[in-house]
Amino acid sequence: MQIDIVSVIPQVFEPYFDASIMGRARKAGIFDLSVHDLRDWTHDRHRTVDDAPFGGGQGMLMKPEPIFEAVEDLAARGDVKPHVVFFSPVGTPFCQAEAERLAGYERLLFVCGRYEGMDERCYELADEVISLGDYVLTGGELAAMVVSDAVVRLLPGALGDEQSAQDESFSDGLLEYEQYTRPADFRGRCVPPVLLSGDHGAIARWRRESSLERTARLRPDLLDKLELSEGERAFVDDIVQDSETQGGM
Ligand code: SAH
Repeated sequence: MQIDIVSVIPQVFEPYFDASIMGRARKAGIFDLSVHDLRDWTHDRHRTVDDAPFGGGQGMLMKPEPIFEAVEDLAARGDVKPHVVFFSPVGTPFCQAEAERLAGYERLLFVCGRYEGMDERCYELADEVISLGDYVLTGGELAAMVVSDAVVRLLPGALGDEQSAQDESFSDGLLEYEQYTRPADFRGRCVPPVLLSGDHGAIARWRRESSLERTARLRPDLLDKLELSEGERAFVDDIVQDSETQGGM
């Protein structure tokens, strides 16, 4: 996968994408990241990318010319047309299913906003607009990093163990089951004995139940979309009722 990012602070990306799993995946050629300085598409001495909003009001907006030129120029480079993503609190909320969908593109182009956001006409360039959540960041850089990370780790070979991306929270609509490592007894708190039993069938059943229990207790909003057996549905309904009467966690 090829990822292009356009930003006015391009220097923030390299340290993250050079380290750890992202760094290894990048070196292994699983994804290629090119970060571009939006100011390279300005034509004035001050390399201006912002201007005051029409109608008054606080702050500055990103002006359309450099953003249009950057996206048009980058889209024309290379053989594959990029899927263009902008970031904004008014966008579609990001989630694991969206990450999985984006992982299907060969080339992504992320455009990071700053200041009070962008001139509305810029959004014509976007194939989609993503929000990280209901809060306001100072810029789209963190959003581009979060989305890139969530997408790249789904690419074949990015994580050492292929299995690990499948078992995780949200991959089947549930939260992940509880996990434990050594020691089996830590300060008197013991790991559930079934996990030490070596009985793979029993462990799989325990994990499924742990996932269902946690999801019902912590994120009952996720339950509606799930396909559950009658027994499982009764199990989660009981937990939801109990936590409603006990007041949550
Ligand atoms: N005035 C805008 C916020 C601008 S914040 C508003 O009220 O909607 C500046 C930039 O940060 C945005 O252009 C966007 O690229 C990024 N940003 C801020 N919050 C974000 C969020 N929740 N999700 C994705 N991007 C966000």
